[in-house]
Amino acid sequence: MFIVSIDEDQCSGCNSCTEGCPAHLLGFSDDKAHVIGDESECMGCESCISVCPTGAITISEM
Ligand code: SF4
Ligand code: SF4
Repeated sequence: MFIVSIDEDQCSGCNSCTEGCPAHLLGFSDDKAHVIGDESECMGCESCISVCPTGAITISEM
């Protein structure tokens, strides 16, 4: 099981990560990306991490 989290202080608001999530876990509002679904439904694909320019996204394996 993977858990995704976003450090909103590190998020620059580029909105690069939200479209590509196959689990539709990432949303964008108030100029920041947010985890909008069940964080534990993350598939660990790292697609979001690969496009994030600031390192704001972390995936933990439980
Ligand atoms: S690792 Fe993949 S499934 Fe998990 S939040 Fe990022 S894009 Fe979505
Ligand atoms: S890719 Fe990174 S910096 Fe860009 S919106 Fe997503 S979390 Fe924020």
